[in-house]
Formats: sequence, structure tokens, C-alpha cells
Amino acid sequence: MEDPRLALGEALAAAADTLRHHRDLGLTEIACQMTSSRDPGAELAAQERALQGCPRCKLSKSRSTVVFGSGNPRARFVVIGEGPGEEEDKQGKPFVGRAGHLLTKMLASVKFDRERDCYICNVVKCRPERNRNPEPDEVAACNPFLLAQLDTIQPAVILAMGNFAAQTMLGTKDGITKLRGRAYSYRDSVLVPTFHPAFLLRNPGDQYKRMAWDDLKLARREWERLTSG
Ligand code: URA
Repeated sequence: MEDPRLALGEALAAAADTLRHHRDLGLTEIACQMTSSRDPGAELAAQERALQGCPRCKLSKSRSTVVFGSGNPRARFVVIGEGPGEEEDKQGKPFVGRAGHLLTKMLASVKFDRERDCYICNVVKCRPERNRNPEPDEVAACNPFLLAQLDTIQPAVILAMGNFAAQTMLGTKDGITKLRGRAYSYRDSVLVPTFHPAFLLRNPGDQYKRMAWDDLKLARREWERLTSG
């Protein structure tokens, strides 16, 4: 049996981590509401406000806008991409360019409306210049904000799109072709990796489209199983 002193020490260390994390988010108060009166929309709005003008990594030098996320804060389905592109940086909203249009259609193909049924965000909230991959220090700087979003939304299912999001979330160097096709346990959610819509636009053959369709159906089934939706 586990030593209760060790268990208490671990619990206190985890609580201290959470408090440090909240301090880093710029929060100055601790909310003590009952679960039933939680307001995920207000929590996300506070997190987004705390990120305005964020100077924590070098992406802050070249971005125009912090692209925090969009959609329904009470959705139990979260879509995670890599980072904002040019159009997203201009509009301040994730997935509004060509890849975003395809994403909207992909979600609709499994009867998800992107605004009503999903919350959409990225691993990093600021655009990497020339759409290069975000670097490890940039991901590390942004990670507390992604985790805070997920803690607030408490998704049943996370759709991780593309090599970068899937590898970052699952902590692996395996590629998306190997990772996709199954569901993983991730914190309190189920994570389904699939191809990034930008990849599907660059590789328009049926082969990848069919695999992405299978992944979306898997994600939908998991969401139904977990929410009885
Ligand atoms: N690609 C991404 O990964 N995220 C966006 O928001 C847009 C394009």
C-alpha cells in the first residue's frame, strides 16, 4: 500500500504546480464555485484576456494577433491544430483559411457544426513566421495555456490534427500515419489523431481522404459513447 505521507506530499506538490500555473496565466483570484455553476465561457474569456500582449516567446515578435481559440466553450469536442497561419493571424480566429474551410466540411461530414458542437484551438497561439513548425521553447511557453483551455472545457474527445499536434500531445516522435487510426487516453479525455486538413489539400488522393474519414467517424463514435450524445 502506498505510504500516505508520500501520497499527501504528491497531492500538495500538484496543488502547488496548479497555483504556479494560475499565477503564470495572470490570474489573481481563486474561483471557488460549485461545479454546477462553472462558467467555461467566462473562464476562457479570462484566459484569453490574460494572454493579450503575451511576450513569453519569440513568436510574439512577429505575430499580429494572439489566436486563442473559437467555438463553444461547453462543447465536449475539441479540435487542436498546430498554430495560426497568415489568415488566422489577421483575423484572430483559428482555421479560417483554406485548411479551415476544409476542416469545417470534415466536421460537418460527421454531423458536427464547428461553432455549435466544437471548440477549436492550436498548440501555439501565435503564428510562426512563414508557417514554419513551432520550436520546442515556443511550445513549452504556450503549453500551460493549452492545458488551461482543456481543463476548462473538459472535452470528452480531442481531435489532434497533423504530425505536430499529435506528436506534441502524445509526447512521441512517431508520425501521423503511424499514430492515426486509433484512440488514445489523454489526461481525462480520449484523443484521436488524424491528418491535418492542409496536408489533405496538398495530397488530394482518395487514400488519405478515406483514412481521415475513418478517423473522424472514430472520433464521433467516441464522443457519442462518452457523452451519450
Ligand atoms: N493550421 C493550423 O494548424 N491552425 C490554424 O489555425 C490554421 C491552419
